[in-house]
Amino acid sequence: MRTRYNPQANDIIENFDRFIKDREKLQGILNTDKKICIEIGMGKGDFISNMAKLNPDNVYIGIELSPQVLALAIKKLNRFEEENGLSLKNLYFMSFDALKLLDYFSENQVDVLYLNFSDPWPKKRHTKRRLTYKDFLENYKKVLKKDGIIEFKTDNRGLFEYSLVSMQNFGMEFIDVYLDLHKTEVFNVETEYEKKFSTFGPIYKLVAKF
Ligand code: SAM
Repeated sequence: MRTRYNPQANDIIENFDRFIKDREKLQGILNTDKKICIEIGMGKGDFISNMAKLNPDNVYIGIELSPQVLALAIKKLNRFEEENGLSLKNLYFMSFDALKLLDYFSENQVDVLYLNFSDPWPKKRHTKRRLTYKDFLENYKKVLKKDGIIEFKTDNRGLFEYSLVSMQNFGMEFIDVYLDLHKTEVFNVETEYEKKFSTFGPIYKLVAKF
């Protein structure tokens, strides 16, 4: 995601009351009977903010690698809350690389893991960076609860095909596969990328568990 460099990004993040910096604070938040839903690579956060608004009884944690993008997500959330006259106390943001998931989460803590429009990394030599590469799946398997699920959406057919195979090779079970999500009646909350790119072709989605 291309963004204009914002020298204030770190200040915006540090001043955001629902930014989780360390494992200890996260573990306190996860110490609940509520459903825990995380999105990896949340970008500017439209999807997870809307999900948190729709499902106030669930806890949502958006994870974004880039502090620059996270700062934009915080600004967007502030506007969203102002416009809707609410404060989403069930929504938290974090910033780290998904490869480090186990530095923060313990085993069996997550109910739903969303991957929305993950970077496709089309070149073969970048395969290991795809968020559905086996090293990432290993981490997801650990942090998900026994019946936990992954929901993955993309407009990129190559990444979708790769992910189907990668998950299949990992022994995952597919619950649903959609080759043109927007032509179905399935409930769907759109992401920023989805709004931008769905006019150019189909949106693919899969729901899977380990
Ligand atoms: N999910 C959003 C959407 O659908 O509009 C954003 C999609 S954008 C193409 C992918 C986002 O994933 C970028 O903001 C990028 O910084 C983030 N990302 C890429 N690799 C990541 C990683 N290893 N860990 C966490 N976030 C990552």
